[in-house]
Amino acid sequence: MPDSPRRVAVVTGAARGIGAATARRLAADGMAVAVWDLDGTACASVADEIAEAGGTALAVTADVSDSAQVEAAVTRVATELGPPVVLVNNAGVLRDNLLFKMSEPDWETVMGVHLRGAFLVTRAAQRYMTELRWGRVVNLSSTSALGNRGQANYSAAKAGLQGLTKTLAIELGTFGITANAVAPGFVDTEMTRATVARVGMDFEEVRRQMCERIPVARIGRPEDIAHAVSFLVGEDAGYVSGQVLYVSGGPQG
Ligand code: NAP
Repeated sequence: MPDSPRRVAVVTGAARGIGAATARRLAADGMAVAVWDLDGTACASVADEIAEAGGTALAVTADVSDSAQVEAAVTRVATELGPPVVLVNNAGVLRDNLLFKMSEPDWETVMGVHLRGAFLVTRAAQRYMTELRWGRVVNLSSTSALGNRGQANYSAAKAGLQGLTKTLAIELGTFGITANAVAPGFVDTEMTRATVARVGMDFEEVRRQMCERIPVARIGRPEDIAHAVSFLVGEDAGYVSGQVLYVSGGPQG
């Protein structure tokens, strides 16, 4: 069997947390990876780490919610690494509050990064995938898509990403492109640690409480999510499309 071509992957929000773990994993899988984030220094350090481990990576600084920056960044990836045919829409922010205290900017920011961001980056990258008649899109949803107190904006965005995913699967399938969503539960990252700190709780106490509720009795690690993404973007996963894979240590929904 001939070797598969080296695929070029874009991972947004890859300077830390789930995105950084996914970028490292896809590089270890043999892909050339664009490590994309708002913070150029942090992207560069993940890209350097990948290169030191023998992989190929490019640090890309752009705001996923800005269409001009997105177009320029995707073009740069295509020029410097090759056509991006694997896309992981992972960039995310939280602006949690109860509905009656949620401001319009907090609603717009969350929609802008998660939903508009995934739309813009996918629209820019799909032209390379359709041309090559091969592609993989993974959108980071969340168990919060099923509803979560204090997260009207985030829950709506994460549920919206599931609808986007299914529609991409329907529209792009004929071009050999799959689209799936990964919906993590509680994963130990700066995002969750900041949330716990904001409500004045101790992270180790929250971890203990969560472990009592999660069937596999531990909270998630970024690598758990990266592993699921690695499967979905792999050469052999071409018949899995339009799915939402909950990665949360137990059943959801
Ligand atoms: P994280 O540690 O906060 O990392 C998110 C990254 O996205 C940060 O580096 C952030 O950069 C970047 N980012 C934010 N806005 C951006 C923008 N406009 N353009 C480009 N990059 C941007 O988050 P995480 O916990 O790894 O979460 C990653 C994804 O998984 C998110 O979509 C999140 O909603 C989802 N998720 C996480 C969990 C969890 O338990 N951690 C659970 C379910 C779903 P800055 O730091 O510069 O802002």
